[in-house]
Amino acid sequence: MSKGTVFVVSAPSGAGKTTLCRELVARDSRLRHLVSHTTRPPRPGEVGGRDYTFLPEERFRAMAEDGEFAEWALVHGNYYGTALSRIHEVLASGDDVLMDIDVQGARQIRGKNIGAIFIFVLPPSMGILENRLKSRASDDERTIQRRIGKARGEIACYREYDYLLVNDVLETCIEQARAILTSVRLRIAAVEPGWVERTFDI
Ligand code: ADP
Ligand code: 5GP
Repeated sequence: MSKGTVFVVSAPSGAGKTTLCRELVARDSRLRHLVSHTTRPPRPGEVGGRDYTFLPEERFRAMAEDGEFAEWALVHGNYYGTALSRIHEVLASGDDVLMDIDVQGARQIRGKNIGAIFIFVLPPSMGILENRLKSRASDDERTIQRRIGKARGEIACYREYDYLLVNDVLETCIEQARAILTSVRLRIAAVEPGWVERTFDI
């Protein structure tokens, strides 16, 4: 009875959006996380095709030139993008799309006027953000400092979003995100056109 919605989640690196998105998808059979393309090298434990589609810059540029991305951006020195075809596939199946993308990519999706819902995730404080980046132990000190340096600029964009979550206690944050999903899905705008009319013959 409802049509698919695109949910866009952004946050400064280290706020916990990968963790949050993974849990949301695991607990919600109608929500599908889109695997992005990136030119960044895989982190230990990351698997191509599951965490990202890892590809060389040359190939990424060719895809961008061919208009294969719904959005793409240069983030922390690497290219990231979401394939347009993947969004269409998920929406056509009636499921919802969850995109974990940066603020530049979110702006491009906003410009497409596809009724997407924008969620911004904050860490409880800058100190905790730094601790989380360090505890993840996947980036060197220079990379961590670059990500922290960019965080304030990203946080300053929070007003462009529809919802704000603070990822303090993970479980609370997950439940709040699920409440957003539920409320958005119950909007009249999410009802498949004609469903009520057909069902009640009005
Ligand atoms: P992002 O995708 O935003 O860069 P991650 O999901 O990789 O962030 O999380 C960064 C680190 O913080 C990871 O080690 C993760 O396990 C941890 N983390 C995420 N959410 C929380 C939380 N609510 N409390 C404590 N640690 C968290
Ligand atoms: P990371 O390298 O830590 O996985 O991600 C770095 C940043 O890139 C995060 O802010 C993340 O949201 C963003 N990102 C991941 N995939 C995409 C994408 O497809 N498009 C855009 N614009 N940003 C992305």
